[in-house]
Amino acid sequence: MAGDSATARVPAKVNVQLAVGGLRPDGFHGLANVFLAVGLYDEVTASHGDGRDDGSAEGDGTGRQDCGHGVRLTVSGRDAAHVPLDESNLAVRAARLLAERHGREPRVRLHITKDIPVAGGMAGGSADAAGALLACDALWGTHTPQDELRAMCAELGSDVPFSLVGGAALGQGRGELLTPLETGGTFHWVFALADGGLSTPAVYRECDRLREAAGTGADVDSVPEPRPSALLLDALRSGDAEALAAAVSNDLQAAAVSLRPSLSDTLKTGTAAGALAALVSGSGPTCAFLAGDAGSAARIAAALEESGHCRSARTTTAPAPGARLLPA
Ligand code: ATP
Repeated sequence: MAGDSATARVPAKVNVQLAVGGLRPDGFHGLANVFLAVGLYDEVTASHGDGRDDGSAEGDGTGRQDCGHGVRLTVSGRDAAHVPLDESNLAVRAARLLAERHGREPRVRLHITKDIPVAGGMAGGSADAAGALLACDALWGTHTPQDELRAMCAELGSDVPFSLVGGAALGQGRGELLTPLETGGTFHWVFALADGGLSTPAVYRECDRLREAAGTGADVDSVPEPRPSALLLDALRSGDAEALAAAVSNDLQAAAVSLRPSLSDTLKTGTAAGALAALVSGSGPTCAFLAGDAGSAARIAAALEESGHCRSARTTTAPAPGARLLPA
C-alpha cells in the first residue's frame, strides 16, 4: 500500500561529448550526446496535501510555496529563489502528466531539495521531473511500468529520460533516444558552480550565430551529422580517465564562453591545478574538470575556490545511479 510520502533522489549530469548538428527546420538541433550521471543530487518528495495553503516557506528558509494548479510546490536549497513555482516547473508538469495518464486528480504536495545548480547545464529541472514521476507514482500506488515512465520522461524534455536511467548513455535525436553505455570504473570530477545561469536556448542560438559568423553556415546542410566518438566510448568502457580526457568535447562550449567570457578563466584555473580535462558542462555556465584521482580533485577544487572564478567548487564521482526512491 502507498505511504504518506515518497522521496526520489535524482542525479545531475555532465555531457562528456555534446556534438551539435545543424539547425533543423523544426527549430531543433540533432545531437550526439554522451551523458554521464554525477553524484550531485536533487531530492523530490511527494506527499498528500491537506487542501490548505498556509503560504509558509519551508526548508532552509529560501523555499517558497504556490497553489492553484492542483500540485503544491515548495523548494529549499541555495538556488531555491531561482526555481519557478508555477506550471512551468518541470516537476509540476511531471506530476500532472502522470495524474492525467492514470485519470486521477493531480492532488499532491511536492517538495524539492535542490542541490543541482539552476540553469547550470547539469539538467537540474530534468532531474526534478524524473524525481516527481517516481515519487508521485509511489505515493499514488499507480505502479507505472518502466517503459511508460521512460515515454513520459521523453514527453517532458529531451534530458529527462537520462535523469531516470542514470549511469552513462548515448543520447541521439534531440537527446531523448537513449542507448545505455558500459563504464569500466569510477571517474573523479570537480564542478565549478557559477553565479547565475545561462539559458539553454540562448546558448544554442549563440552556437548558430558563431557558425554563421565563421562562414560555415548553421543549418543541417552545412553542419556535419553529429556522431559519437568511438575513442570516447572506448575510454568510458575501459574506465581510463586519461583517455576520456583526450576525447571529451562540447560543441556548445564556444557559445557559452562567448556569452560568459569569464568562463575561460575558470577553465584555465582548473587546468593549471592539474585537471586532465576542463570543459563547460552542457550549455553552462557550470564548468567540469576531470581529475586523475580523489586527491587531485580536492586540489583542483581548492584552487578554483581560492581563485574567486566560481561561486563554489564541488568534488564528486561518476557514474551515479539514476532516479531512485529512498527508503521510507
Ligand atoms: P539542461 O542542462 O537540461 O539544459 P540546465 O541544467 O541548464 O538544463 P535547469 O536547472 O534545468 O537548467 O533550468 C533551466 C530553466 O528551467 C530554469 O531557468 C527554470 O526557469 C526552468 N525550470 C523548470 N523547472 C525547474 C526545476 N524543477 N528546477 C530548476 N529549473 C527549472
